[in-house]
This record gives sequence, structure tokens and C-alpha cells, in this order.
Amino acid sequence: MGAVMTDTPAPASGAPLRLFNSLTRQLEPFAPVHPGEARVYSCGPTVYNYQHIGNMRAYVFADTLGRTLSFKGYDLRHVINITDVGHLTSDADAGDDKMEKAATSLGKSAREIADFYTDEFKRDLQWLNVRDPVKWTVATQYVPQMIEFAKAIADKHCYELDSGLYFDVSTVPDYGRLARAVTDEGEGRIEEVASKRHAADFAIWRKTPPGETRQMEWDSPWGMGAPGWHLECSVMGEEELGFPFDIHTGGIDHREIHHPNEIAQNQAYRGAGSLDCAEHSGARMWMHNNFLIDRGGKMSKSAGEFLRLQLLYDRGYHPLAYRLMCLQAHYRSELEFSWEGLGAALTRLKRLVMGVAPVRDIPAAAVEDRRLTDLLDKFDAAISDDLNTSVALTLLEDVIAMKRIDAAQKRAAIGTIDGVLGISLLDVLRGDLRIRPKAAAITDEEIETALARRKEARAAKDFATSDKLRDELIAAGVEVMDGDPLGWDWRLEN
Ligand code: AMP
Ligand code: ZN
Repeated sequence: MGAVMTDTPAPASGAPLRLFNSLTRQLEPFAPVHPGEARVYSCGPTVYNYQHIGNMRAYVFADTLGRTLSFKGYDLRHVINITDVGHLTSDADAGDDKMEKAATSLGKSAREIADFYTDEFKRDLQWLNVRDPVKWTVATQYVPQMIEFAKAIADKHCYELDSGLYFDVSTVPDYGRLARAVTDEGEGRIEEVASKRHAADFAIWRKTPPGETRQMEWDSPWGMGAPGWHLECSVMGEEELGFPFDIHTGGIDHREIHHPNEIAQNQAYRGAGSLDCAEHSGARMWMHNNFLIDRGGKMSKSAGEFLRLQLLYDRGYHPLAYRLMCLQAHYRSELEFSWEGLGAALTRLKRLVMGVAPVRDIPAAAVEDRRLTDLLDKFDAAISDDLNTSVALTLLEDVIAMKRIDAAQKRAAIGTIDGVLGISLLDVLRGDLRIRPKAAAITDEEIETALARRKEARAAKDFATSDKLRDELIAAGVEVMDGDPLGWDWRLEN
């Protein structure tokens, strides 16, 4: 699917871009470290399993941010990491390595597991029209750099235990400022590793226990072992973007442990002082998307139905309906998933696609009409206001609804807005949105034949036959939508 953005010139006199910085807890103007550039690092997945749609919200957010930065005229340098080693089943440095655990339980190598789920993840991103980053950083390809980074901070900031090299969080100022629930006890976390100096201290190198061999392990000054998860992101961010870079993103769970730990490492590495100066954290801004929740609360891979994009697809929902659902909410608000909500987003997407159809194939022309330039200015103001995508969507609908307007200019305005929202409106066709649920037993031809017969029966006022045909269709899972204003006529139920 199109990873290329079309029709998105930077606004000549744009609205100032303001973004919410979780570190300072306020909206701030975006001021790039390197003029004209925007360097963004997004924490990526741990590839030991499929990503659920909650995880995907994090990448829709990062992509919308990236598209906005491109729209505002910045040369975007976006990096997303793939964690293929070193992420434990518990954030508190205990439990098994998620990769090794999945490998053992599936009888595969850790490499096979990582490659398989990386491919699945990238397919989901394509489905959601998330643009590729300029670089995918894969953790196992940066281990020598991680060892160098750890060596640079070991003497002043770390101590060694039998289980590994630990970071002493009291050696940097303002540890945990990013987190919301900071206490003197180190966020009240459970101290799962005996002999740590502080509960919040964390492993930056995990030694392989004596007598054991890991599938993925490396030699280091602290013995054979694997890097700690937090270390990966510090090192890959520094390698690819240089400290300080502009924006670091992730889901809000990372605001509590992973990112404070990354920040502490970065402060140590840079010999930096207090977080009153945000740059000491390694990035100027830290941005976090809120959770997608389901009725039971936080979405998880283990509890209940495993909501992943493939499941949505199998039930007949186009993945872009999910992207639209994300955009309807502000990224800092919780979003509750429901099948009804997804259905409503799909209907809205259908309306958008139908609305765009008359201008889709018309070559775009420069937008000069005042009514359109006004709407584009409003769009710019909305998206520049900490990514107000829900307002941006309504402005897109205003453009589409506009009558007696030059079609080529209208097409250009739609392209500009869609380039930022990333719904692919100019590429997706009506037919693409009608996805057959996997469980459907009836063919499209059978449906069309039955509907044609029903139409004839109704024309002949033979309502008994018409009702019978309708009942048969319903029994086969087909919802007949008489007088459907969208003109889609029928849909297969899930
Ligand atoms: P993980 O693979 O667990 O490291 O998660 C990948 C990304 O998804 C991280 O940025 C998480 O913060 C984010 N994330 C995890 N669960 C959710 C959720 N339910 N809603 C939104 N983002 C999430
Ligand atoms: Zn990370």
C-alpha cells in the first residue's frame, strides 16, 4: 500500500506546531535541534508474538506525528526499533527473556521467532498505511555499541551483582521525573532482584546464569549475557539520531519505567545534569499515546480475545477503518474498542471514499479558492495543535462536501489533508472496503442473484417472495440494507 505521500506541500505561512511534552507536562512549540529537520525515535515492538491493535495505536500515532512534521516542511528522520532480544516477561528485571521463552514453547529458534513476528508486524503497518521509517533498528545488530555504551557509564553509575550489571538510579538527578507515580521508594515497584541498592535500579547487562546457555548471548566485560531492554533504545537512538534528538515516542506504559530508565542512562552517558533542561534526557520532547482499552480494561495478548488486525480483517473490517477509529480520538485520550465503534468507523470511511470518488482521477491543481484555502488553514491550525485529528477529520469532510467548487482544487485539498491523516482516500476504492468475513459461506454472486430476484419480486409487488428471499439472505449472514443512503446495498455480517 502507498507509503508515499502525495500532494503535501508545506504550508507557506503555517500555524505554529505545538506538541505535548510528557517530560515538562506542557504544550511546547516544536523547535528542531537541527534546523529544517525532525528526528524522531519510536519504541518498537518486542517480536515474540503478534502485536495487538492496542500496540498498533502507538504506530498510527507515531506515523501521524511523522506525517504532520513532513507536512510542516521538516525533513523527517524517523527510526523505529525492533526488539529481538533482552525483553523480560517482567519490567522489573525478573522472569524469562520473552524471545527465548516463545522460542522454547514453539520449538523454534529465537531468530525464527523474531523474523516471523517482525514480518507480521510490518504487514500490519502496511495495512494501516503507516509509512516506513528511514531506518528500522534491530537490537541484535547493535550489541557491540551497547557494550561500549555500558562500559562508558559502568564506573560512575553501575554496580555488578551475580545476575548482571545494574544501573544505580541515585547517581543521576531527577530519576523518574517523567513518570507520573514517582515516590521516594522508586515508584513503589517490587524489588524482584535481591541485593539491588534501590528498588528502581535496573539491569543494563544480564549475565547468563552459570551452567546455562542462551540462544542469544554475547561476551562482555561482565561475562556472557544479553543487554537490558532499556539499554537498547538509548544506544540505537544515540547511534541513529544523535543526542539530543527531537522527539521520542511510545505508549503511556513506557512513561512509567522504560523511558525513565532510558533517560537515566542518557543522562549518565552524556554527563548531563538535571532534567530542568529537557535535552539532558537525550531528547527535547517525550510524547506518549494513551491506551486502546477494551471493556475489560487494558488490552492484553493473553486475556480473552486476541484483538489483532488480522482478526478485524477476518470479520470483514478494512484495516483503515481501524486507523480512522484511532484518528477520531485524540492520541492522549483513552480509546475504548468495540465492534460497534469499528463498524461506525467503517461506515464513515465508506462515506469518505464515496465522497472522494468524483474527484479522484482529476489531476490536482493549485488551491486558490478562498473557501478551500480557509479550510486548509483551519486544518493546519488543528493538526498543529498537538495533532487534533478529530477536528482535522471533520474539516476533511467539509472539503469533500463542498459544492460548486473547482474539482482539481478540491482534489488537491483532499490530497493535502489525506497525506497527513494517512487514510489513503485517493487510492482506496469502494470495492476494497467490502471484505468478505472469513466465516461467510455464501458467494458474492449468490448474493447478487438473490438480490436481483428480490428486486423483481418487489417490482411485481410479490412481497411474500421478496420477504422469503430476504429471510434466506439473513440466514446466510447477509444484511440487506434497503434504501441504504450509501448505496452499498448489502453487507456480510460477522
Ligand atoms: P510492546 O511490544 O509491548 O513493547 O508494545 C509496543 C508499543 O505499543 C509500545 O509503544 C507500547 O507502549 C504500546 N502499547 C502497548 N499496549 C497498548 C495499548 N493497549 N494501547 C496503546 N498502545 C499500547
Ligand atoms: Zn524503547
